[in-house]
Amino acid sequence: MTDLNNYSDIVGSSTINDLHKIAGKLKSKRILNVNSTAVGGGVAEILTGMIPMLQQLGIDAKWDVIKGDEKFFNITKKMHNALHGTATELTKDDFEYFKEINQQNAKNMELDSDIFFIHDPQPIGLINEKKIKKGSWAWRCHIDFTSPQKDVIEFLNSYIEKYDCTVFSAPAFSRKLSVLQVLISPSIDPLADKNKELDDETIKKIVEGFGLDMKRHIVTQISRFDYLKDPVGVVEVYKKVKKYIDCQLVLAGGGATDDPEGMKVLAEVRDKAGNDPDIHILFLDPGSNIEINALQRASTVVLQKSLKEGFGLTVAEALWKAKPVIAGAVGGIPLQIKHQYSGILSYSIDGTAYYLKQLLNEPEYAKELGINGREHIRENFLITRHIRDYMLMFLYLLYRKDVVYF
Ligand code: UDP
Repeated sequence: MTDLNNYSDIVGSSTINDLHKIAGKLKSKRILNVNSTAVGGGVAEILTGMIPMLQQLGIDAKWDVIKGDEKFFNITKKMHNALHGTATELTKDDFEYFKEINQQNAKNMELDSDIFFIHDPQPIGLINEKKIKKGSWAWRCHIDFTSPQKDVIEFLNSYIEKYDCTVFSAPAFSRKLSVLQVLISPSIDPLADKNKELDDETIKKIVEGFGLDMKRHIVTQISRFDYLKDPVGVVEVYKKVKKYIDCQLVLAGGGATDDPEGMKVLAEVRDKAGNDPDIHILFLDPGSNIEINALQRASTVVLQKSLKEGFGLTVAEALWKAKPVIAGAVGGIPLQIKHQYSGILSYSIDGTAYYLKQLLNEPEYAKELGINGREHIRENFLITRHIRDYMLMFLYLLYRKDVVYF
């Protein structure tokens, strides 16, 4: 676990002192986080860094994961797609099964806390325990909520409205709700294995181990194999660019236990890639943090061609490494990228290909975007800011009568 004081060099010691001061008011308070997977995806990534840091600050933070079978996670993936605006049919039976699994989890879990911090739709039904378990309940939505499907959002609303507070990642996701909505964007941990500095030797060893040539351009997208990350679109972008400029493409990602679609998408990407030896499709094991770090650092340009995105931690990770990033102008990504200043926002395959050619041809401009991007992440999207926001929200939840809105 990284000592909090080690972050002073990056964010300044006054930021760390502030964290201790706020945490002093939360000493020994119990905060139980619940989500649906321990590995894979942004939520698990954030909780992995966040829980030890809250504990270091003297807060009794815990993290538990709900259990579900294949049927449940197929349903929640359908909900996830529908909430992201992809027309998806959910049956009455699907909704009933969702309720049933949430009830089962509520029965089997040790729900004992001052604050219950529930992440994303999968465990949202635990709120029905509020009357019995007491405590304050916050629902944290990590999803791009700009155009959710009506039946699914109505179903979720019946739960959301029972929470004391909701948390969204970007202003565009806020909704008409009777409960308090807080805007807190996610973050990365600059000292975690995923983001810490690596020496050139380590990077070379890892990247060459994947069969890549460090002397030629490397273009990378790191993501779960998910339609909404548009990996097939990334292969099309690469093919358009490759006609003019030599480069290698890396599509690297693993699965998540709550995402049953991964293998199907992976097969489609492999099919699209054909037998081009310069397309490297890497299926990574969970915990491949140093490998991802090295791949990002070895890249000439990083892509995140998402079609929908709650926030896109991979964008922050690449920007923190001062890499030029071209990313879809969706969801939380425009919070991180100011177009042509701290990266490039794109809207299509042709647009992404156009900018990729430009960045490969203009290394000085690409470098400037990366440097600006790193500073933007330092100012806004590091774990220290995130923890501060969460602790202020916890204070609000615990002392609501005395605390004014922040
Ligand atoms: N990630 C990982 N292994 C993989 C693919 C992704 O560790 O094989 C990490 C990635 O580096 C990032 C997180 O998982 O930290 C993905 O978060 P993001 O917000 O980009 O997308 P999500 O998967 O939550 O939709």
